[in-house]
Amino acid sequence: MSKPEKIESAKVSILGAARSGIAAARLLKSQGASVFVSDNKPQSAATKQTETLESLGIAYEFNAHSDRVFDADFIVISPGVPSNSNVVMHAKKVGLNVYSEVEVASWFCRAPIAAITGSNGKTTTTSLLGKIFQNLGRKTFVTGNIGFPISDYVLDADENSIVVAEVSSFQLDHIDTFKPEVAVLLNITPDHLDRYADYQAYVRSKFRIFMNQSSDDCAVFNHDDEAVNDHCSKLNTALLPFSVNDRLSFGAYAEDGKVYLVSDGKSEFLIDVKEIRIPGVHNLYNSLAASLAAWRLGASPTVIAGTLREFPGVEHRLEPVRELSGVRFVNDSKATNVDAVWYALGSFANPIVLIAGGKDKGNDYAPLFELVHEKVRTMVLIGQAAPKMLREFSDKTRCIMATSMEDAVSKANKEARPGDVVLLSPACASFDMFQDYEHRGREFKRLVMAL
Ligand code: ADP
Repeated sequence: MSKPEKIESAKVSILGAARSGIAAARLLKSQGASVFVSDNKPQSAATKQTETLESLGIAYEFNAHSDRVFDADFIVISPGVPSNSNVVMHAKKVGLNVYSEVEVASWFCRAPIAAITGSNGKTTTTSLLGKIFQNLGRKTFVTGNIGFPISDYVLDADENSIVVAEVSSFQLDHIDTFKPEVAVLLNITPDHLDRYADYQAYVRSKFRIFMNQSSDDCAVFNHDDEAVNDHCSKLNTALLPFSVNDRLSFGAYAEDGKVYLVSDGKSEFLIDVKEIRIPGVHNLYNSLAASLAAWRLGASPTVIAGTLREFPGVEHRLEPVRELSGVRFVNDSKATNVDAVWYALGSFANPIVLIAGGKDKGNDYAPLFELVHEKVRTMVLIGQAAPKMLREFSDKTRCIMATSMEDAVSKANKEARPGDVVLLSPACASFDMFQDYEHRGREFKRLVMAL
């Protein structure tokens, strides 16, 4: 089932009162639906959310999900609520459709949507694509996982605007009719294995971004990621692959330090790789993906290249913090999985003192062993994952434990020699010690500045 016929008389229960849940509640209420928000976190930890819901006149409950949740025509699920939680299982058992916030928002969206997913690079690519459209002078809404729920913006977007949406697998798990004009799949590497039955289930979730596309739409995808390429080459939509390894006959590729866009077998030079401001191979991939999506939606190569020259990247992603006594400090707090750390380590030629650890998500650290052995002078380990990481890495490089971020920064500073990089790139979630990765990154920066 897709959008219910009569939203204005629909009863909707929303699970989760975080940003996207509240945005969906606000949107559905504005369309006349009768909305109930349910969250099982303690109300004492939700003062701001309570105030917002009160001011919107939306009914709510905290502390637990009551049976009132099931007195609804459909359910909207927040990304933080697991699909296999009791409340969701029961809703399905009693025949209720469960939709994500992105699905609901798309029912009301008149603007073309460029949706971006992948295990890593979503926020960077989303911001970059948004910036290209802004530079083009197009009314642009940069939304989604990036922190601005699409539901908050859809009603302001018209046919001439563009909605750029960062979409997570948890949002894709519960789409039904969501049909982006351009869907971008950056890469798939292991992540969130604490939330999926197995890796294949996570992969299938990512592929859902294309499931409603028709031949008028377009898939932008990573040709160098074998699983992604195998799946996407068979899609029944316009195909725009990107590669840094192979010269392609359509899409975009990098060769000998230059980036080309290709259509009808004809390559058009876009930019020199060294002119792209965001560093590293991973960011070259992100740049190729954003360029293709923008190109497909009407941006000229001149505007695209101009934006690639100036776009500085996003906070907490390989963000330079300071240089002290010849040591560079870099904040990559957003590296919450193994693949992101792999690219981070590959981005520096100098020896690295790596601060890592946090809440382990069922990680397999093996892909890092060789790089750590080669490049990491010392690993400073924090959080719940520290004992496991110590076991796995202690024969690869020198490992030391730290009891807090303050302790970690101080120890890392002592370990580093002039010319080194002290890199916070945790490979883990932050929730064991911090509110979120931003909190972790800010703490790191504060402590580094205080050295
Ligand atoms: P996401 O929104 O998917 O988490 P971000 O752009 O926020 O992606 O980047 C998250 C982490 O992944 C950062 O550490 C960043 O340096 C790294 N990263 C960015 N793009 C890529 C990519 N294409 N492949 C691998 N790692 C990447």
